[in-house]
Amino acid sequence: MALIIDGKKISSEIKDELKVKVAELNDKGIQITLAVIQVGNDPASSVYVGNKKKACEYIGIKSLAYELSQDTTQEELVALVEKLNEDSSVNGILVQLPLPSHINEDTIIQTISPLKDVDGFHPQSVGALSIGQKGFVSCTPAGVIQLLKRSGISIQGKECVIIGRSNIVGKPMALLMLRENATVTICHSRTNNLKEIAKRADILIVAIGKPLFVTKDFVKEGAVVIDVGIHRNENNKLCGDVDYVDVLDHVSAITPVPGGVGPMTIAMLMSNCVESVLS
Ligand code: NAD
Repeated sequence: MALIIDGKKISSEIKDELKVKVAELNDKGIQITLAVIQVGNDPASSVYVGNKKKACEYIGIKSLAYELSQDTTQEELVALVEKLNEDSSVNGILVQLPLPSHINEDTIIQTISPLKDVDGFHPQSVGALSIGQKGFVSCTPAGVIQLLKRSGISIQGKECVIIGRSNIVGKPMALLMLRENATVTICHSRTNNLKEIAKRADILIVAIGKPLFVTKDFVKEGAVVIDVGIHRNENNKLCGDVDYVDVLDHVSAITPVPGGVGPMTIAMLMSNCVESVLS
């Protein structure tokens, strides 16, 4: 029987641990403040921002909401981020992506001070991760590491294959697995013999953005499968990049969608916010 990795439960545990830490900090007179900036009112972004605010409230982190209109200029957004960089009462700055097309996301990410970069997207944060230095780590891949560790799955020495090389999931995921001493292979849309390579994995992490793409014939018997993908199918139900039903009797452990990787992202964002005052 495969272990179903319960991301909802693990993320709740993490949030409860953070709540205790935040209360201790509050007792010492330390308040954590996260500034959340949303430009425009994309419904999906509004849901994400709302969930982040709720998590802050639960843990005891103060959140400052900046809801800017769709026609905000890049210069106005840069000016706001710079103001928040200077504000010593703000510990973390999060700009909800995607931004409207007239704003260059890279410019905004690079404007955020690396000391307040709780999303871990700043080139300095990514560079620090790649050379093993301290810095904020992108939340979704950090959440995957927690799922594995807290489920008692050892990483050291394991053959890990990551399908997907995006800047926010695939690449930082590979660096984190390397940091945990896995032997790491990254696959992408131009990889030859994808199934054969995926089948080598003791731990297979999938982040490609293609519903139900990974079937049993990509998976070694007894592998651990982590599904980062999230989609709505034709019946409006959530599903992942992995065909969960097809692979279930073939794996030793797997993350479901929903309830696997998804809930971990916000928990790790909260963890980064707490780190921002501890480091
Ligand atoms: P992306 O589109 O930026 O990157 C997809 C990657 O997959 C690319 O590197 C591409 O080379 C690779 N790829 C695409 N088709 C492929 C194929 N046929 N074979 C091999 N590789 C292929 O996507 P992303 O931002 O990394 O997100 C991936 C998925 O994870 C999406 O479904 C997204 O919604 C989900 N996601 C979930 C969370 C979460 O909190 N659970 C967070 C971020 C992303």
